[in-house]
Amino acid sequence: MGGSGSGSYYRSGIKDTTDGHKSLDVNWLNRKGYLAPGRWSSIHWWRGDEHVGDIGIRAKEGRLVLEYRCGVGGGEWESVTESVLLSWTYCNYGGRRPWFICPGVRSGVPCQRRVAKLYGAGKLFLCRYCYDLAYDSQRELKQSRLTRVEQNIRRRLGGSTSLAEPFPPKPKGMHWNTYLRLKHKAEYAELRYEAVLFERLRAQNYL
Ligand SMILES: [Zn+2]
Repeated sequence: MGGSGSGSYYRSGIKDTTDGHKSLDVNWLNRKGYLAPGRWSSIHWWRGDEHVGDIGIRAKEGRLVLEYRCGVGGGEWESVTESVLLSWTYCNYGGRRPWFICPGVRSGVPCQRRVAKLYGAGKLFLCRYCYDLAYDSQRELKQSRLTRVEQNIRRRLGGSTSLAEPFPPKPKGMHWNTYLRLKHKAEYAELRYEAVLFERLRAQNYL
C-alpha cells in the first residue's frame, strides 16, 4: 500500500485469528476509527507467530474499499479490490452501530445481508452464510433428522432400519399409493441427506 491523498490517514492494526479465518469485524473497525471516510488503514493477521495476511482498507462515504492479494495456487498471487457497503442503525439511547452489507452473490442473487463480520475464507471477504461457516452442528442435526425419517419409513414397512439394506417391498394389505408415497418420502430424505453432506464437504474445503 502506498501513497496517501490529502486528508487521508494511514493506520495499522494487528489482529489475531483464533478461529483460523481472516475476518473483519465492523465494530472493531469502528472502534479503531477505521470507518471514518478518508481513512486509509491496514490490518495484518497473525496466527501465533505466523503472518497469514494483510489487507488495506480505504474508508469512503458509505463504503469500504478492501485491497489485498490472494493466493490462487501454484505460488501465484492475484490483487483483489473489493467494495463493501456500510449501513448504520441508530440505538435507542443515542449512538449508532455499523454493519457490513455482504457483497456476496450466490447463484446470481446478491446476498446483501447486514452482518457484523466478513470472512476471508476464499477469494473475497463475505459473510458466514455465503461461506457456510460455523453451521456444521446444524448440518449434523439435519442429517440425523433425515436419517430418522428414512429409518421410520423402513420400520413402518416392516423392513430393517439399516440404510445399507435394500428398500423394503410393499407389505401385504398396504395400498400402492401409500407405499409409493412413503417410498418417495424416503428417497427425498436420502437426496436431502446427500445435499447436506455435500454442503458440509464443500464448507470444509474453506477451512
Ligand atoms: Zn453473504
